[in-house]
Amino acid sequence: MLETMPRVGFGLWKIPQEDTAASVVEAIRAGYRHFDSAADYGNEVQTGEGIARAISEGLITREDLWVTSKLWNTFHAPEHVELACRKSLEDLQLEQIDLYLIHFPIALEFVPIDKRYPPEWVHDPDAAEPRMHKASVPLHETWAAMEALVDKGLVKRIGVCNYTSGLVHDLMSYAHIKPAMLQIEAHPYLTQEKLIRCAKGYGIDVTAFSPLGAQSYFELDMARKEESLLETAPVMVAAQTHGKTAAQVLLRWGVQRGTAIIPKTTKPDRMRENLAIDDFELSQVEMAAISALNQNRRFNDPGVFTESAFNTFHPIYD
Ligand code: NAP
Repeated sequence: MLETMPRVGFGLWKIPQEDTAASVVEAIRAGYRHFDSAADYGNEVQTGEGIARAISEGLITREDLWVTSKLWNTFHAPEHVELACRKSLEDLQLEQIDLYLIHFPIALEFVPIDKRYPPEWVHDPDAAEPRMHKASVPLHETWAAMEALVDKGLVKRIGVCNYTSGLVHDLMSYAHIKPAMLQIEAHPYLTQEKLIRCAKGYGIDVTAFSPLGAQSYFELDMARKEESLLETAPVMVAAQTHGKTAAQVLLRWGVQRGTAIIPKTTKPDRMRENLAIDDFELSQVEMAAISALNQNRRFNDPGVFTESAFNTFHPIYD
């Protein structure tokens, strides 16, 4: 298995099931060796099919790949963590997950796998007003169960997503196995300097999700067209200077500031475009100008979408 995580991974959120296996094979052909999966994306079976196909076609071996998956909110209770992990392992057709992350610091009531999978956010989707059902599970209990997965060899490393610095300090106070990764939303409109510095201070690596900013959120009506980073002046000027696309500048900025990035696309041309960011370097002035775009604009905010989409107010950052 890979000892270090490739700095550019392939994001799998919102890739339709019917496109996922082919996208995974295509991404492997394009050179991706790191896949960012999650039970909640609803396409782990197809991700597993794509990986298996690429291995059987001789494109790669399992040892060439880094696969991340995530524990969904309904499986936080210690007795459900291994169940969830084994389901992801089975769906992905893997014997071990390289990195297993707590998806959100949000515990929801358990939903049996044979009742609904992935369980998603609301407990009663058929109700007139479906709502989230919260569960009283302390995060330290979930973490202890995550550590047991490492001890059993089911996962190689563990980490967290969507934690604030307060939760990171707390986690570090009791973790026997240190988190290997903090995965957070980060792009030039949400630079998260203090949180990244906090994680790195503990030796925790950081992965930026939604590295292209608003692009992922237009289809969900969670961003306005004018919030695109691709048309901002410092990004466009740097793109022109280096003969690269605006997307490549955003991704390069993410890697150059020390985060891993996991862009998602279903388009083969963009898969190659998003990987081709090693042949140029942004100057300090360009990096600073892009970072100065920061507005602390969070597109993926449970404090907003849980209420509008799930009739439940559940902020975690405020
Ligand atoms: P993203 O990768 O920043 O953006 C994806 C969007 O940008 C898609 O609409 C894609 O469209 C478009 N795009 C991709 N490459 C492009 C290019 N070169 N030029 C222009 N547009 C481009 O956002 P994301 O999918 O939200 O985040 C990436 C990954 O992070 C996810 O897939 C998931 O694995 C992970 N994630 C994790 C969490 C968490 O809570 N841990 C939350 C969100 C995301 P096309 O597909 O049409 O190309």
